[in-house]
Amino acid sequence: MDMFYDTHAHLDYPDFEADLSEIIERARGAGISRIISIGTDLESSRRAIAMAERFENVFAVAGWHPTNVNEAPKDLRDDLRTLAKHPKVVALGETGLDYHRLPLILSLSPKGEREDPAPVTGDEAQIYKQKQARLFEQHLEVAAELGLNCVIHQRDAMEDTLKMMERVKGRVRGVFHCFSDGPAAMRRILDLGSIVSYTGIVTFKNAQTIRDSVQATPFGSFMLETDCPYLAPVPYRGKRCEPAYVKEIATVIAEVKGCTLETLSAETCSTAAKFFPKLS
Ligand SMILES: [Zn+2]
Repeated sequence: MDMFYDTHAHLDYPDFEADLSEIIERARGAGISRIISIGTDLESSRRAIAMAERFENVFAVAGWHPTNVNEAPKDLRDDLRTLAKHPKVVALGETGLDYHRLPLILSLSPKGEREDPAPVTGDEAQIYKQKQARLFEQHLEVAAELGLNCVIHQRDAMEDTLKMMERVKGRVRGVFHCFSDGPAAMRRILDLGSIVSYTGIVTFKNAQTIRDSVQATPFGSFMLETDCPYLAPVPYRGKRCEPAYVKEIATVIAEVKGCTLETLSAETCSTAAKFFPKLS
């Protein structure tokens, strides 16, 4: 059977609490031989590490998601250093910039009536974005110090994210996870020494742009992931996603690239092994 890795899963989410062992078994049965569980704050990172200790084929990434920035401590660096010492913590993240989901505020209309919550604007939006940038920078700094790479989340913030990665070029590489842009953005990421990873979105009918990117991304520069519990591929679209479904993603990607599953398996697993040096 062709082996694949799920390089981005959220096994610590409550969605998986009831049947985690079965999910891991199903993944194994489908040939998914490694699963990387991604932290979204300190507690989540610790839960990911606990799972990596419990299951031999599970690894962890420790970090703080940009959309949770308002709950983050001012300085996360010492916590990141401590968590990164664990033998199964293979990278830092997910970190990055997300301008898509700005915090909502409640305001009153001029007549004093309650209006619908609206995203922050102006100075408030700027301050929020700067906070995300500082948190992102802390991950990059510690990653450079420890020789680890970063799992990058970006949404509606490609330019600023590329600028931040430019500054650590040659010291830290990123994987732009759930890559959903076209070939031009993909090439700019690769120029910085970073790579991308593709989710179940590649199987969606309306995702031709992403399939164009898949076609244009050379082997060695992309990995596979589910981002489960989100983004289940066709034919499971809309349901809870799980690591076993990397199989469906791999099938479509092999078709788009015109290669065998065997080649795709060998290429994506070796890319992951190089990107996550502690993934044994
Ligand atoms: Zn994620």
